Amino acid sequence: ENVTAAQWSPNGATLGAQDLTHPDNQVFGANVFSPAEQRKRLPKAVYKQLQSTLERGEALDSSLADAVALAMKEWALERGATHYAHWFQPLTGSTAEKHDSFYSPAGDGTAIAEFSGKELIQGEPDASSFPTGGIRATFEARGYTAWDPTSPAFILENPNGALLCIPTAFASWTGEALDNKIPLLRSMGALSDSAVRALRLLGDEEAQRVFTTVGAEQEYFLIDEQYFFERPDLLTTGRTLFGAQPPKGHELDDHYFGSIPERVLAYMLEVEDELAKLGVPIKTRHNEVAPAQYEIAPIFENSNVGSDHQQLTMQVLQNVARRYGLVCLLHEKPFAGVNGSGKHNNWSMSADHGENLLDPGDTPHENLNFLFFCTAVIQAVDKHQGLLRATAAGPGQDHRLGANEAPPAIISIFLGEELEGVYAAIESGAASESSAGSLLGLGTPVLPRLPLHGGDRNRTSPFAFTGNKFEFRAIGSTQSVALPNTVLNTIVAEAIDDLADQLEAALKGGASLEEALRPVLQKSYAAHKRVVFDGDGYSQDWHEEAARRGLLNLRTTPDALPYFVKESTVAAFERYRVLSERELESRYEVFTEQYAAKINIEAETAATIARTLLLPAALRQLALVKEAGVDALVTETQALVEQFVAAIQALESANLKENQQDEPPATWASFLRDNVIPAMNKVREVADKLEKIVADDLWPLPKYSEVLFIK
Ligand code: ADP
Ligand code: MG
Repeated sequence: ENVTAAQWSPNGATLGAQDLTHPDNQVFGANVFSPAEQRKRLPKAVYKQLQSTLERGEALDSSLADAVALAMKEWALERGATHYAHWFQPLTGSTAEKHDSFYSPAGDGTAIAEFSGKELIQGEPDASSFPTGGIRATFEARGYTAWDPTSPAFILENPNGALLCIPTAFASWTGEALDNKIPLLRSMGALSDSAVRALRLLGDEEAQRVFTTVGAEQEYFLIDEQYFFERPDLLTTGRTLFGAQPPKGHELDDHYFGSIPERVLAYMLEVEDELAKLGVPIKTRHNEVAPAQYEIAPIFENSNVGSDHQQLTMQVLQNVARRYGLVCLLHEKPFAGVNGSGKHNNWSMSADHGENLLDPGDTPHENLNFLFFCTAVIQAVDKHQGLLRATAAGPGQDHRLGANEAPPAIISIFLGEELEGVYAAIESGAASESSAGSLLGLGTPVLPRLPLHGGDRNRTSPFAFTGNKFEFRAIGSTQSVALPNTVLNTIVAEAIDDLADQLEAALKGGASLEEALRPVLQKSYAAHKRVVFDGDGYSQDWHEEAARRGLLNLRTTPDALPYFVKESTVAAFERYRVLSERELESRYEVFTEQYAAKINIEAETAATIARTLLLPAALRQLALVKEAGVDALVTETQALVEQFVAAIQALESANLKENQQDEPPATWASFLRDNVIPAMNKVREVADKLEKIVADDLWPLPKYSEVLFIK
């Protein structure tokens, strides 16, 4: 069976694949087997057949696959590739590759370059170690990878050669998705079907497809690699488990949008160059709020390609750093007391004729579409707020969400004053008597101009309308955007269908479009407006107000993850065939286990560093002050050392493997949250006090004031 990833999506997913390769541009897309490159290298008939097969989302027959493989191989060999890899996205959230050589022995002592359609289309990674959440029994431990022809193959260069990477989906032999790509493709197909159906009702006879778009703003830290290697906590867990605060305000003021240090700028230019070669359309760079923190953002693309490109961006950010003696930290909270890193997921829907469905536009027709789809988003976000929160969950995120630097854990929507005004009018029916032919009887033919970049007016909202798209801002900097977009696509498809059902019924009853639409929007907004909030998301008032409105406040990862298997989630995901209940359960299990494993590793690392690095330093300091005979210092140091020993012992016993016993993962995760994390915090609290009194030459870890400010 030749199965391609395109089949996971009921109507294909070439949707909006941009071909940004320009013949005049030597760099952009140089390492991408782009549609333009395919056109150049494939026989005309084969190229056409490939395109139409992709459009219909059908399986490629083997002769077609062989022809594509041949062209791809020649292209890759010309560029110095010696190996190829199926590049996929297991549930770890990062990417995986299995390298195979192009060269096979020819039997006469020589080697020939071989790469057939079969090898292009399907691979079998030795993948028994990837998380599956119990889907794969060990006897069928192999999964297989399937070519996703809708995301272009690319070449990763390294100093010793080059690797052809083929984007693939990763599934079990029983057909379950073991990755983040398959559900994303399925959700894009689902949303497209629902949105096109709605567009027909709204009078659009033209649109054949609707595709979702993503542009993710990525925050990251850059530090000198020397400090990275001198800190076992950074090395093992990606964050500092110890570290006293540097003097207040130290260099803080000039960082944000300040000038970028030379080494960092050189690094950024090389990152942008590498990404350009890979066809990732990078747009912006600037300093972020915290010292040593930066941001990178692309021009948006369709969700599938954009999400692959986001993974590549994270990879390139990390790889290139090493060439400059830097390390790129993607962790959500590498430094306590310093702003953490997030990822803003800009999301919208575009029809294949070019209309952005979340752009209010200039005509009444565009406005009606906008109001319909915007209302669907509000309904979906309210109904599935717990699930959206769950997609942003993870141990790093628990330091950030709700910590006055990132949105609260409460999901709400910022619409902006103008749009809220429009909804208030729709809801109250205020202007319904006014002139015929006006937009929903609102008295004006078009919506008021909604300001773009409204986002900056409210940085505290987790889900903000920013003029022609929504920005989901709660996601963490390490997280793959595939799952949040999968969830958005699916829940919005469901809401679109719900509104479309009502609209369809009213139209059948003979109402005009405007007459029919108004009550549909009115009813939906009235039912879901509790999720709309324009105020300060950081304030205590909002927490109380949100509770009164009945909004969820899922503070930690173990609180949020069960929403992957809530009845409302299963119903929506099964209806649109995005994830089966079993696939949802596997994700719940995998994410819970990952949370537990990460906290457990942090706790062990903290205990080891405390006992073998920091405690000895404290004891030396104690000896030093005893020798000097300064009683006040002896008393002070002795007291802290005793507290430290007690805290370390408490952490070690809280984190004992025996505590886990045969607990289900969720129970273990909650135990870690309630017992091990507080014990770890206590150890840190004392250690950070010790850092401030132990002689600088005795303290074994580089301090925040060095790590964060040496550029
Ligand atoms: P700002 O930098 O002020 O937040 P932008 O609107 O230019 O403003 O974009 C931020 C991010 O949103 C960029 O990555 C951009 O590509 C993305 N973006 C813009 N329009 C869309 C869209 N229709 N769909 C998805 N992402 C988008
Ligand atoms: Mg933003």
